[in-house]
Formats: sequence, structure tokens, C-alpha cells
Amino acid sequence: MSSGAVLWRMATFLSPSSWAVRQGNSFLCPSNPSSLKRIPRCPPSIGTFRRSLVVAASSSFANQNREFVIVGGGNAAGYAARTFVEHGMADGRLCIVSKEAVAPYERPALTKAYLFPPDKKPARLPGFHTCVGSGGERQTPEWYKEHGIEVLYQDPVVDFDVQKQTLTTSSGKLLKYGSLIISTGCAAVRFPEKIGGDLPGVHYVRDVADADSLVSSLERAKKVAIIGGGYIGMEVAAAAAGWNLDTTLIFPEEHIMPRLFTPSLARRYEELYQKNGIWFAKGILIDKLEAGPDGRVATVVLKNGSTIEADTVIVGIGAKPVVSPFEVVGLNTDVGGIQVDSLFRTSVPGVFAVGDVAAFPLKIYDRMARVEHVDHARKSAQHCVRTLLTAHTQPYDYLPYFYSRVFEYEGSARKVWWQFYGDNVGDTIEVGNFDPKIANFWLDPDSRLKGMFLESGSPEEFALLPQLAKSQPVIDKAKLRSASSVEDALEIARSSLQIGGTV
Ligand SMILES: Cc1cc2nc3c(=O)[nH]c(=O)nc-3n(C[C@H](O)[C@H](O)[C@H](O)COP(=O)(O)OP(=O)(O)OC[C@H]3O[C@@H](n4cnc5c(N)ncnc54)[C@H](O)[C@@H]3O)c2cc1C
Repeated sequence: MSSGAVLWRMATFLSPSSWAVRQGNSFLCPSNPSSLKRIPRCPPSIGTFRRSLVVAASSSFANQNREFVIVGGGNAAGYAARTFVEHGMADGRLCIVSKEAVAPYERPALTKAYLFPPDKKPARLPGFHTCVGSGGERQTPEWYKEHGIEVLYQDPVVDFDVQKQTLTTSSGKLLKYGSLIISTGCAAVRFPEKIGGDLPGVHYVRDVADADSLVSSLERAKKVAIIGGGYIGMEVAAAAAGWNLDTTLIFPEEHIMPRLFTPSLARRYEELYQKNGIWFAKGILIDKLEAGPDGRVATVVLKNGSTIEADTVIVGIGAKPVVSPFEVVGLNTDVGGIQVDSLFRTSVPGVFAVGDVAAFPLKIYDRMARVEHVDHARKSAQHCVRTLLTAHTQPYDYLPYFYSRVFEYEGSARKVWWQFYGDNVGDTIEVGNFDPKIANFWLDPDSRLKGMFLESGSPEEFALLPQLAKSQPVIDKAKLRSASSVEDALEIARSSLQIGGTV
């Protein structure tokens, strides 16, 4: 979609419409959806569209009508629920329709503490329900009950009628909504069945059921092959090494984390992985996965004709947004996902999308983006619900932030924890020798700081990163290049902030 088209679409989002805006009062209503009364047309008092249903304020949800429905019970849903509660708008009004069997949780844990070796206290639910990842309350299934939030477990939405404002779930429930938040996240990209993508012993890690299945394979595994050198691949490889398994990481690029790491930065991590006994097969494509006599995966056949033995294979080759059955609200063809404006409104009044599935205007870099990271899932959900429930109409102004943590289990010789803020564009300057820390600075042709990566920083140093990436100060490249340590480099960047010249 061209930027002109995007601007046009956003302009239509922001113009007044015939849809009623209401601050969430509930009214008694008959259970027959055909006799539902919409709030009569009125000029919106704020630039927010919200469909309103007349719904009984009862936590029993005896009828088919829900005032607010969230589809997807993942990271964003947990934070959205918390925001509904904070505004006193959850009890008897909010329904979460989830595909999973468990209440929302902090998904990143699945390839981190969840995969710790059995004797190193692996994380298990209910330990990491949202919103513990940001220091919030642990929202167990009881928490949802106590707050009058209806959660439909293992009952994904399979059909959507935009005209009637209804959702049909796989068990056949028909739900009529007032406002709808789509937070269906992403699904792992799979290898086709015909090349062995569905063989027993081949794993994809997206939810807790996947992680459980992987743990049961690791318990009897000897040789593990991990396909993909991104986040999932790096985290699962580090975990498998912790289990003392023969581990090979296979990917087509020249180095790990090619979308973020420079070759030099990647080399440091690869060396650390190799010290932990992990093998690398780089620049290599997969031909197929073959089963052994027991029907389980046994061999990874590479395009170059060679083979790698593996009784457990983890495929981490990316994820794609789950837009079905909501395509009708409008998709973004450039970055994928459901197109929204800076308040997470889709082209259909009263329908919002947040988290991984949302293609939103990334204001700071003036482009459309989809961000598959937990920080955005949390913030977008909170921003969307505040917009929906209050007169809050500040456009979402997100600063991209990614992190990863590996080798964190007790007894590990070297724990790894890095954070990245901003945009990895322009020239890079690397400072530090990875022992104990390393930093990377991305600077544009005008010497403005665009992105920053830091491994093993102190809390104060990590806290400086977003300030720098947001302000984009002009930095003396020669001075930064000659920095004697990461601390020195951060001080140079901090003083550039104080001197001024920020955007
Ligand atoms: C293994 C793993 C590790 C990660 N590690 C990191 C990390 O270290 N750092 C980081 O920043 N990010 C990480 N992420 C990404 C982060 O977890 C996601 O960005 C975040 O979970 C997105 O939240 P979401 O609510 O949009 O989607 P999700 O949390 O994926 O939730 C979507 C939910 O919707 C459900 N759903 C889908 N379709 C339907 C339907 N039709 N009806 C009902 N429910 C449906 C799904 O089952 C799922 O429960 C990781 C992701 C994974 C999978």
C-alpha cells in the first residue's frame, strides 16, 4: 500500500462517523440479538469510534451479547484485560475468546526459563501469567473470575460477520459484540508435510502446548537439530546445550540473527555458543526431514546432499500474522497483518487490532510496521483499551525495543542478556570485547544515533538506551570509535544528549 493510501485511510479513520461513542455504560437488553438496540446516531465527542451494544451488566454472560470481546488469549489480551480492570470496565462486560487452554501468559518465557534443564527449576504456569513480565499482578484463571471477565478457553473464533457484529466459535457459540479487539498474534511458519514438517519429533514453539511437547522430546533426546538462526533458534539452541544434548544450529544466512546483528557482533555470540558445545551449519538450506524406522524424525537432509542426524528437530523459521477470519477489516499488503491507525482502529468502526497481528503507523520513523515483540504487545493493548474506554486520543508513538536472554539457568558459566532500541540503519560502531559487555551504535549519514544494542549492561545503562534512541542525538563518530570501553562510549552518547542537536 502506498503512503498516500495509508494517509487517506487514516484520514477516514479520524473523520466523524455515524457510529455512537459511549463511555461504556451498560443497559439491560433482551437475549435475542435481533432486538438489540444501538445507541442512536450522535456526533462523536472525541475522535474515537466505538460500537455500542446494549448488554446486561452481569458476570454470568447468560446471553449471546458481549459489550467488549477480545479474540486471542495471548500476551496482548492479558494486558488489555488489566487495562479494562483498571478502568472499572471489565466486570460483566469483557469476554476473552481464546484458542489456548490456559489464561494469558508471558509468551517469551517459553523458549527461556520454560526450557531450563529439569534440575534447574524450569518455569511453569501459573508462574508466568501476564502481567508478571512487567512487574504487574499475576493474572491466574481465578483473577479473571474475580474480576467478572468471561474467558472461553480452547474455543477459537472460526467465523466473523462484520455486518451483524457476530463471532462464531469452533464449539458453535455465537457471540455478538459491541467493540471487538483482535489480538490473534502470529503462528509459526511450518515446513510442508511433504518434506517432513509434521513428523513426530519435529517441533514449532508458539504456545505452552508446543513447549510441553518439546520438553517431552528433550527428555529422551540425544541429538537435536535447530533450524533457523533467529530468536527462536538462538534461544532453543542455548536451552538444548543446557540439557547437555548434541545440538546443531542450521540456517541459510552467513551468521546468526542476520536481521539485527552485524557480522562482527554475531561472531561474538557464535563463539560463545560454540564454547557451550553448539555446532553451526551456516549458509545451508534444508531439503527435507526424514523419519527413521520408528516413524520419528531421524535425519535432516540438506540441499548440498549432506545429512545431520537428529531425533528432535525444532523449526524456528519465522511467524506469520493470524488474520483469519478477520480479513474483511482490511489487511496491510506490505508488512502483513491487519491495518490499523495510530489508535489501533481498523477500517471497521468498533473493531480494533493490537499486538503482533496489527500493522500500525510507526510514528518515530514515519512508516507502517508490524512488531512481533512483547513490549509492543503490552503497550499496544494498553493504548488501545485506554482509547476505547476514555477520551484518550494520543497517537501511539512507539520506540522499537527487542531483547533476548539465554544461558540463564543456575550454574551457567555466562549469562547473556541483551537489549536493542531504535532502528538498525546506517553505519555501525562496535565498542567492547564481550568480556563482560559489548555495545553497538547505529548512526545515519548525519551522525544521528538511530539504534543501540547493549549486552550485559547495568540497569542504569539499559535505562539510557531508550532515551538515546528516542532523542537521536548527533554523535561525534570519531570520538565514539575511539571509546576505550562500553562505559566510555555510553558516556559519550549521554553527553551528546546533553549538548543538544536531538530530533
Ligand atoms: C517462543 C517465543 C519466544 C519469544 N521471545 C520473545 C522475546 O524474547 N522478546 C520479545 O520481545 N518477544 C518475544 N516473543 C514475541 C512475543 O511473545 C509476542 O510478540 C507476543 O506474544 C505477541 O502478543 P499477542 O497477544 O499479539 O500474540 P500472542 O501472544 O501470540 O497471542 C495470540 C493468541 O491468540 C490465539 N488465537 C489465534 N487465533 C485465534 C482465534 N481465531 N480465536 C481465538 N484465539 C486465537 C493464539 O492461540 C494465542 O493464544 C516470543 C514469542 C515466542 C513464540
